[in-house]
Amino acid sequence: MYSKPQRIEHKTINNLPTSLTPMSKLIVFCAPSGSGKSTLIAYVMQKLPSLTFSISATNRPPRGTERNGVEYHFLSTREMQQHIASGDFIEWCEVYPGRYYGTLRSETDRLLEAGQDVVLDLDVIGAENVKKIYGSRALTIFIQPPSIEELRKRLEQRATDSPEVIETRVERAAYELSFATRFDKCIVNDNLTIAKDETLQACKAFLNVGSID
Ligand code: ADP
Ligand code: 5GP
Repeated sequence: MYSKPQRIEHKTINNLPTSLTPMSKLIVFCAPSGSGKSTLIAYVMQKLPSLTFSISATNRPPRGTERNGVEYHFLSTREMQQHIASGDFIEWCEVYPGRYYGTLRSETDRLLEAGQDVVLDLDVIGAENVKKIYGSRALTIFIQPPSIEELRKRLEQRATDSPEVIETRVERAAYELSFATRFDKCIVNDNLTIAKDETLQACKAFLNVGSID
């Protein structure tokens, strides 16, 4: 059972006692792979530098320029299974056959207790589970591709996955798209400039903050 992070009194963040700082929030991004979610997360985090990314754990191998401890904690299958058995994840999911992904309790608790607003990149099941735990403290954003054909094209052009992996991701996309209406916000990433703006506005409204222009 998840236990709510304890507020640490007397510690200060931005010169305000933590007891006076507003409760930190979570923004959960979710999208079929290839929709442009990473592109939009990078944009929002650049515009809202107070946001901190919660690094998930996975047993999939790094792709492209990914580094351990930056995009993911890249673990072995055995390590992932041990964390699952020990209850170390707030949520976890076997997103693709044999490929596990999970949010380490230690990672999110550390950030939230420090008063940081946190960005999570989760699959549809993970997003629903985090929403159940955190309620209105979490904003769930679904990034939708204009079509499955466009999704496949983007994955092929990104050229970071084998044809077999691309096929698995496209196959899962139809299932994931059926969850879109359950999210707080659904943004169609057709024109990237418009999608960036819509995503930023949604985050700013939720956090009630300005941004660096
Ligand atoms: P995800 O994180 O959802 O898997 P990425 O952000 O890696 O997706 O984007 C997949 C590919 O599509 C990347 O090569 C990215 O540059 C490209 N892309 C993202 N948004 C758009 C868009 N609106 N139009 C065309 N290409 C896009
Ligand atoms: P990718 O392999 O493309 O990085 O991620 C595949 C899928 O796993 C994406 O939908 C991504 O959002 C999801 N994912 C990444 N980390 C987590 C996590 O910690 N938990 C869950 N449930 N899904 C995750």
